[in-house]
Amino acid sequence: MSVQDLKGKFIGKYGESTEEARVFYAPGRVNLIGEHLDYNGGYVFPAALDFGTTLIVRPRSDGKVQFASTNFPYEASIDYSEIGKAKTGEWVDYPVGVMVELAKKDLPVSAGFDLLFHGEIPNGSGLSSSASIEVVTGFAFLTLLGGDTDTVEIALLSQRAENQYVGVNSGIMDQFAVANGKRDQAILLMCDTLEYSLIPFVTGSYKLVISNTNKKRGLVDSKYNERRSQCEEALAVLKQEVPGLSYLAELTPEQFEAHKDKITDEAVQRRARHVVEENQRVLDSVEVLKQNDLKQFGLYMNDSHISLRDLYEVSCEELDVMVEEAQKIPGTLGSRMTGAGFGGCTVSLVHENDVERFIREVGEAYRTRTGLIGEFYVCGIGNGVEELKGVE
Ligand code: ADP
Ligand code: MG
Repeated sequence: MSVQDLKGKFIGKYGESTEEARVFYAPGRVNLIGEHLDYNGGYVFPAALDFGTTLIVRPRSDGKVQFASTNFPYEASIDYSEIGKAKTGEWVDYPVGVMVELAKKDLPVSAGFDLLFHGEIPNGSGLSSSASIEVVTGFAFLTLLGGDTDTVEIALLSQRAENQYVGVNSGIMDQFAVANGKRDQAILLMCDTLEYSLIPFVTGSYKLVISNTNKKRGLVDSKYNERRSQCEEALAVLKQEVPGLSYLAELTPEQFEAHKDKITDEAVQRRARHVVEENQRVLDSVEVLKQNDLKQFGLYMNDSHISLRDLYEVSCEELDVMVEEAQKIPGTLGSRMTGAGFGGCTVSLVHENDVERFIREVGEAYRTRTGLIGEFYVCGIGNGVEELKGVE
């Protein structure tokens, strides 16, 4: 839907006013490489997508905040003074959670707002529609109320909204990428220090194709916790060998090789190997991107998948089939699972001339082999949160 059409909907819903309606946007995100490193002191390498969530917002004078979304029928009208007092279990908990965080800041109290959201990100597919709606809400309110629109701060307060108000435990990567992304750049991010740099990622005639396995994720929480404690176990052993070590990902592959035998549990050793090698792969990926070598980047994506499948064991049949079929398409430079695993999406780098064939052939083979229907999203790398000015 164009911004113009969305404005038409907004007027249809809330009517005309002398107040100005302003338009804000935040993207979805994908992690390109660097999986299960965020809690191991390693790097992640996400990028903002070129589609996301648009928000039209306009002040009103009767103290009410009115919420509507083109994606959900549920609507709400909440007194400004009542915001955050009762969770609804509906989508409005996401923007309300952000407003609760904003209320802790010293911002002028406003008389009320009309809000209309429109999302182009499939919900619950791992492309972070939740971070997108949070960050666009935070940025819009801080802009309108004259607050500090520092995008790192906005990422942090959005994460708190999701963790504390909505009650979903998630790291900082999603909100960070959505808030700080830049067109044709990926973000090399250290999650615990929030140190980051933007790395040019000009895909040119290649497209990112995100393939949704539509596999229902079952075991993800218990397996995730198991992996975390296995990493802690490996770290405890290696700390005795390497003085001053505070995270697994601080080890070089050579250091790991020298001390790995001290980890007697074979599975735990494999988990640690993934962490060390995947972190090195992220750094190597950045180097090859600096030389514009997308082909080598694609090979690192393939290696990352193998490591997640065989060493970290967080893939599943559906993700493996999706990756295997993707790699059969001649225009595919690389393909891997993205996100925590056990379902969700894969990300592939595919020549634009082969994208149609990719969607057709990978889709058919995936359906034949798994009985599930995959979904495909063709993306570029776009900007982080922003106000869309001058769109009529
Ligand atoms: P993901 O972040 O992977 O898309 P989540 O389950 O974390 O999946 O977040 C999806 C939820 O975020 C939706 O079910 C809805 O509650 C909320 N949400 C995201 N985008 C919108 C939108 N455009 N309008 C209303 N709610 C949205
Ligand atoms: Mg989410």
